[in-house]
Amino acid sequence: MAEKKQAVTMDKIVNLCKNRGFVFPGSEIYGGFANTWDFGPVGVELKNNVKRAWWKKFVQETTDTFGVDAAILMNPRVWEASGHVASFGDPKMDCKNCKQRFRADTLIEAHSKGEVAAEAMTDAEMESYIEEHDVKCPHCGVRNWTPIRKFNPMFVTSRGTLEEGSDKVYLRPETCQGEYVNFLNVQRTARAKVPFAIAQIGKSFRNEITPGNFLFRTVEFEQMELQKFCREDEAMSIYEEFKKKALEFVESLGLKSENLRFHDHDKLAHYAKAACDIQYNFPMGWQELNGVHHRGVWDLSRHQEYSGKTMLYIDPFTNEKFVPNVIEYSIGADRLMLALLCAAYDEEILDAEKNDVRTVLHFHPAIAPYKACVLPLQKNLSEKADEVYRKLAKKFAVTYDVTGSIGKRYRRQDEIGTPYCITVDFDTLNDDTVTVRDRDTMQQIRLKIAELCSYIEKSLEF
Ligand code: ATP
Repeated sequence: MAEKKQAVTMDKIVNLCKNRGFVFPGSEIYGGFANTWDFGPVGVELKNNVKRAWWKKFVQETTDTFGVDAAILMNPRVWEASGHVASFGDPKMDCKNCKQRFRADTLIEAHSKGEVAAEAMTDAEMESYIEEHDVKCPHCGVRNWTPIRKFNPMFVTSRGTLEEGSDKVYLRPETCQGEYVNFLNVQRTARAKVPFAIAQIGKSFRNEITPGNFLFRTVEFEQMELQKFCREDEAMSIYEEFKKKALEFVESLGLKSENLRFHDHDKLAHYAKAACDIQYNFPMGWQELNGVHHRGVWDLSRHQEYSGKTMLYIDPFTNEKFVPNVIEYSIGADRLMLALLCAAYDEEILDAEKNDVRTVLHFHPAIAPYKACVLPLQKNLSEKADEVYRKLAKKFAVTYDVTGSIGKRYRRQDEIGTPYCITVDFDTLNDDTVTVRDRDTMQQIRLKIAELCSYIEKSLEF
């Protein structure tokens, strides 16, 4: 077994992502556009696989969860009902020295490496923590802060052909409102009985004061989340069940249990009954990966009040009418992708004397961008290799590489986490067998072409 080299750093992940086609800085040729990222050919495969894996676990494999894909632009009244227009405010502080703006809670969390839960603090407590612990501006290194002020991170745009007189609309800061407003539409058309859930994967937008750490906190990101509608007396056990399922899911994709922990919220929103994050030990410290929240009847009641439409569920057995409780489970696709990249990244010393180090991403095959790479040993075997490629491409995302030595080609695939390299050589022409090289063990076996699909398929289960 090869020896491990060094700890993963965010710089290494960012560089690998840029150089291997996972993620490029947004609008790069114009000097970039801070905290926006474009997913490249390998990155889009990885992200799609992460989303597919989530949908498979939380929608496809259940009998009581139904999907929606709601509009990003919603009636502005939705955001009044949700409380975002009036009170969705982050605690911002400006550095008087360099004029940069930061979120007080993220400054504290970064300073304490995730050990201090700033969300439980009042503004005054955060200000005194920052003073007592001499928390300096990460940009210029000086401590000269303004007092905390609230900042609404919703992006505003306008609807209509003329800007004057047109209505203000918002880019949604969370996807879940699309489920709440469709609660009865889905319940009726799916003939769903409480408890049931509505799930969605989609883009959200937040004008974050302190974005950063690559994909961790961006202004445009994708959320994968579901809202489970239930009776009050079963809500707490459903909440506990989702904490467990959320943890099992990320472990099954390759995050190690020692790098995961529950973090119960000390301070709850006035309507919430319980809230818990799962935190991951990212290179910059422990940070939220996902949230599970017991939201009581707040969301549906507010929409009932603001829309004037009933949100009452009628129990088909007892005829009892009630507004269901909501358990929410939400995880960012980009943030999970970052955690999976950090967990998979490895530098293995193969030969210390020759300074032979291989960079490898040990992705679970289910999320690996490509399941296999087909390599003709020499160019004149391309026709046969092409035949193998086409056969596999009907089932999986696969890639093809004909340039450079076989060793170099293996290393290129290791760096993007391709689990299998399939080499077509001269024996293939006679016996229809190929060499299959395993990314993690670097062992090679000989397989019949006819057996390749089922061999790869087996590894995709999780
Ligand atoms: P944070 O405390 O990190 O700002 P939050 O508690 O506001 O997150 P939620 O509103 O519960 O987050 O969103 C659910 C999930 O969406 C988060 O757990 C995270 O995975 C993801 N997420 C939230 N904000 C961002 C962002 N700006 N960039 C990337 N992912 C995000």
